Amino acid sequence: QKKRTRRKDSVPNLSFENIGGQQRSKEELKEALDFLIHRTKLHDYGIRPIKGILLSGPPGTGKTLMAKAAAHYTDSVFVTTSGSEFVEMYVGVGAQRIRELFQEARTGAKRSKKNSAIIFIDEIDVIGGRREGSQHREYDQTLNQLLTEMDGITTDQDIQVLVIAATNRKDMLDFALLRPGRFDRHISVDLPDKKARSMILHLHTKNKPLAEGVEIEQLATETFGFSGAQLESLTNEAAIYAMRDKSDVIRQEHLSQAIDKVMMGEKTDREATQ
Ligand code: ATP
Repeated sequence: QKKRTRRKDSVPNLSFENIGGQQRSKEELKEALDFLIHRTKLHDYGIRPIKGILLSGPPGTGKTLMAKAAAHYTDSVFVTTSGSEFVEMYVGVGAQRIRELFQEARTGAKRSKKNSAIIFIDEIDVIGGRREGSQHREYDQTLNQLLTEMDGITTDQDIQVLVIAATNRKDMLDFALLRPGRFDRHISVDLPDKKARSMILHLHTKNKPLAEGVEIEQLATETFGFSGAQLESLTNEAAIYAMRDKSDVIRQEHLSQAIDKVMMGEKTDREATQ
C-alpha cells in the first residue's frame, strides 16, 4: 500500500511569527510572495508571474513551515505532496497525479473563494533529479508534466497558482527545473544560529511548565548544530523526563538530559544507516 500524502484545500493557520529565526529567508520569501498578491499589477506591466520557489536546506529547518506560512500570508489554499509519493508508481500514473494536483489546487481555491493556491512539493529531488546521458529515467514523464503545468501558468488566470518545492539536495536537481519561469527563486533555509535557536526554544516552551530560572540562553549555546525539528524534539523529551520524575515543572536537568537523548538518537540513526 503506497503512502498517500493527505491533501487539504484550506488556508493553513500558521504565520511567519510561528517560525523562529530564518529572518533573511522569511524576508526573501515575502518579497517573492508580494508578486503573487499584486498580480493584477504584474499583468498590467507585462511582468511574468513567479511560478516556482525552491526552498533548500538541511532536514528539519522549517521548509514545510515556511511553505505553510507562505500560503497563510497570501491567503492561498494549500495543496501538498512529496516526491516520495511518486516512488514505484506505474509509468504515467505520476504524470496523472501532477495533473490532478494542479486541478485540485484550482478547484480548491474556487471552492474556498480564494484567488490563489500554493502547491507544496516536498523532496522535489525524487522526481527532479538530474538527467544523466541516456540512462533510463523513471520519473521523466512526471517531471515533464510538472514543467508543462508550470509553463501553463499566466497572470491572467482566475486562480493564480504558485509552486513551492523543498529539497536538501539542491545540487542534484535537473537544470530544466531551475530555468527562468520555473523554480527561478531560490531561498536557502539553514540551520539556526544561537539567537535563532533561542527563539525556537522559546516558541516550543511557551505552552510548557518551565521551572523558574531555566536558562534558555544557556540551552541555545549548548545546542550548536541542532535543527528546529531537533529543538522541538528536545523540549518534548524534557517534558517527558519531568513527567517521569513526577515533577510539576521542567527543570534545567530535564532539558540537559533531553539534549543528550536527541544527540544520541541522531547517532543511533546514523549508525543504523551505515
Ligand atoms: P524536512 O526537510 O525533513 O522535510 P523541513 O525543513 O520541512 O524538514 P519542517 O517539517 O518544517 O522541516 O519542521 C519540522 C518541525 O520542526 C516543525 O513542525 C517544527 O515543530 C520544528 N521546526 C523546524 N524549524 C523550526 C523553526 N524555525 N521554528 C520553529 N519550529 C521549527
